[in-house]
Parts: sequence; C-alpha cells; structure tokens
Amino acid sequence: MFGDDDDGVSGMGSVDIDDQTGEIVACHPGESLAQAQTRRRANDDSSSSSSTVRNLGAGSILSPGMIDVHTHVSQLGRDWEGYQTATLAASAGGITTIVGMPLNSLPPTTTLEALELEREAIAGTNSALYVDVGLWGGVVPDNLDTFEALLESPHVLGLKAFLAPLPPSAGYQAVSPKQLLQVARRCAAIGTDKPILVHSELMTQAECDENTKAAFANRSARSYAAHLESRPPQWEQEAVRVVCQAAEHCRMHVVHLSDARGCLPLIEQLKATYNKGGDNNHLTQRLTVETCPHYLMLDNTMIEDGDTRVKCFPPIRDVENRDLLWRGLKKGLVDMIASDHSPCEPSMRLIETGDFQSAWGGLSGLQYQLQATWTEAFARGCTPWQMAQWWSTKPAQLAGLARKGRIAPGFQADLCWWDPDFVGAPNSYSEEHHRWKGTTFFAENTTMRGRVLGTWVRGKLVYDGLRDAHKEPIGMLLEHRQRTMEPN
Ligand SMILES: [Zn+2]
Repeated sequence: MFGDDDDGVSGMGSVDIDDQTGEIVACHPGESLAQAQTRRRANDDSSSSSSTVRNLGAGSILSPGMIDVHTHVSQLGRDWEGYQTATLAASAGGITTIVGMPLNSLPPTTTLEALELEREAIAGTNSALYVDVGLWGGVVPDNLDTFEALLESPHVLGLKAFLAPLPPSAGYQAVSPKQLLQVARRCAAIGTDKPILVHSELMTQAECDENTKAAFANRSARSYAAHLESRPPQWEQEAVRVVCQAAEHCRMHVVHLSDARGCLPLIEQLKATYNKGGDNNHLTQRLTVETCPHYLMLDNTMIEDGDTRVKCFPPIRDVENRDLLWRGLKKGLVDMIASDHSPCEPSMRLIETGDFQSAWGGLSGLQYQLQATWTEAFARGCTPWQMAQWWSTKPAQLAGLARKGRIAPGFQADLCWWDPDFVGAPNSYSEEHHRWKGTTFFAENTTMRGRVLGTWVRGKLVYDGLRDAHKEPIGMLLEHRQRTMEPN
C-alpha cells in the first residue's frame, strides 16, 4: 500500500511519521522491522527526538484511512445522529474522514448562515470529534442566486443537488435539469474546481406518486418487489444523461449509483471523451461516480419482504446488475465507494410493521463499511490496493482534500490498520458498538471478512481495535485547502 504501486501487494515496509505535524515524512517499502529499528537508532544519534517503532505484524495491512464522502449526520435540528457518535463509529470502522450531506440539519446547509450555524454546533463542547469532518453545501431552487458565495467558502467542499423530488418532511427541494445545467455553467464561469454532487434519479413528484401507487396496487406494503418496481432504472439513466451534459461545464459527481446496466454505458462514453488526453488529463475527473456497499453486497433475491433496514433510493436491484456494478468498479467507471450512512430516528424505519411504502429510506452502519466491501471484493478477486483507491484516494480527490487519501511523503498520516484474513462478526455487533440508538446494519450477525485493528488520524491513534477502545478525540473540521488538485 505504499506509494502508487498497483501490484495489489502490500508487502513489508515502514512509514516515518512526524509526531508534531502528523505528516508522513518518508516511506520505506521493503524495509524490515529490524532495518527500521537500526535506521531509527542511527537517526536518533543525530537528533534529540525520541522515536517509536511499532510492529504491525505480518499479514496485516496498513491502508490510507478510509474517507466516507457520503454521510447524513447532522448536529442541528432533528432527532438525528450528531458528529460525536458518528465519528466514534467511523473511527471503529477504519474511517478517518467523513463528509456530511447538507440536508438533514435544520436549517439545511444551503446558505452561508446555516453552514456557520452547523459548524459552530459541531465545534461546540458536546461534539468531540474522533475523526476529521468535512461538509458539503447544497444547491436548491431557493439559492440559485446565491450558491456561488456558498461554493466559494473554504468550509464547503462542494454542493449537493437532487434531481429526484424529496418528501416535504425533508425540507429540501430538487432542482430541474435546466436549473442544474445553469448551475454547471455558472460554476464554469467562476472557475471552481469543487464538484456538484447529484442524486441521480429524474422524475416529477406526480410520476413518483403514480408509479408507487401502481407498484403497490396488488401487493402488500411489505413487498420488496413493489419497492423495487416503484423506482425504475430508467429514472437513473435519465438523470445520468443530464449529469453528463452538465459535466461539459464543471466537475460533476453521481452519488450512490445503483443501475449499472443502463447508466454505465453512458458514463463510459463520457469518460472516454475526457480520457482522450491520456490518463493524466485532469478532465478525467470531470465526471466521477460513487456506489455504496449495499449495492455491491446485496441484490433483490437476498432481501426479505418487510426488511425496511435496506429501503433506499435508488433501490438495490437484481443480481446481474450487481455483477455489472462490480465490473464497472474494477474498470474504473465507478470511481469510489461511500456509505450513504443515514441514521434516522429508529421509529422512522418502521421495523415492526415492515412497511416499505412508508418507512424512512436510507441505510446505516458506518463502522462496518470496510468489512461489507471487503467480504465481497475478496470473493471477486480484488485487492487491498483497489480498496484503498475506492475508499481513500479517489474520495480525497473528490472532496479536494489534497493531503489525504494516500500513504506518501507530505500526506497526513491518516491510517487504517486491518486484518484482511479475519472471518467472523466484525468486533462486536453489540448495541454499544453501533454508537447511536438509531443505527441499524443490514448484515447484522452475518459473518464477514476483515477486521479493523487500529485507526490513526494525523499520526495519532484514535481507535485501538485490539481492545475495542477509543482514544482522544482529535478530529477537526476540514477546509478545502487546495483548489487545484494534482491529476492522479
Ligand atoms: Zn444520501
């Protein structure tokens, strides 16, 4: 996992970390523990600083800390998970940065004022952060005249838009395709490098209502088949077409792609256009795509009627589509993975009645993303190096976190130490381990592969997986520090 090797083998090696800055100073691929100790002793003779050499053990992997660019956590407003428990859970899952979506806080972070309120609340005494936190802002019909100011704030890493209508209770409105294209053109005019993230399903509220009614007409409200039918893949394809058009003007990002069958050919076509300048052309990042562990791990045949823990939009589709998503991921058409952690108040999930029609949509389980991804990735012959691309390097690029996402000199020492061979229930599935009352996990009590042994944020251990113990909360609120990113 050192440097940019893509051989997929972590190999032996050592990393030097500056205790003061939390930065990686040097990487020594191939260096043994004894060699590292000898080198350290020699170096210490010429400097007064003491240094620690830690043996992480053969067979374990040191990856860049995972960066989860899609979490619904909010400090203000609702009875909803805040950043203290979310970052606690993240650290237990090997995640060293989470980026919060704009729409679950009240008010949503679609204005500079609302953003500052949320930031103040996060920075408040009751919200100790265990990992670093970044925030997306939002673009909605109401701020079409003012979104540029929000986008230019260093506290915003990019903006989230919806093409799909939301329920009124969400307090957040979708933009039209025409409005999205206007936004993209204005992003080009101000020359921003920050991305616009899009929930990519396109339909009107009336179409949505009609389709849901038809899908559930002769079926129980517990029917997963009806839920699946209520959100056809064509809606994703229509939205992705609009996002591709917008990518002509600025950086666009498709969040939580589910439909691979129809969408990936469209994405492939657009990416091929930008790839003409070679892989290092920065335009290759004009369009990025994310999917989630639940789309990669589950398909409709695995979901029981009434299991509303897995209700989400777009829905989890068929087995062949799941294979195609994996193919897209391996090919680089899907760039990254994120959790879409959505920890609503427990009663909103309607677990008792299993009512798919009325339950809140969104999955949770921030701390099990590594296992959820790796279990399936391993079975499909993928490597820890690919995991690091999907969960660290590419997400850091999306969020403009120029010093995160890689184990390389000059990068922050955000690290995840894990055992790729462990098979069992990850740590514990105990309630405490969920960290917040509203968190459920779709694969609870199932055997998965992988186990987090330790998580470091900027060189400091924040979670000791061997003891299941948390250390000092040293997470901080992140800023977009660098407008232009190195192509990678
Ligand atoms: Zn989401």
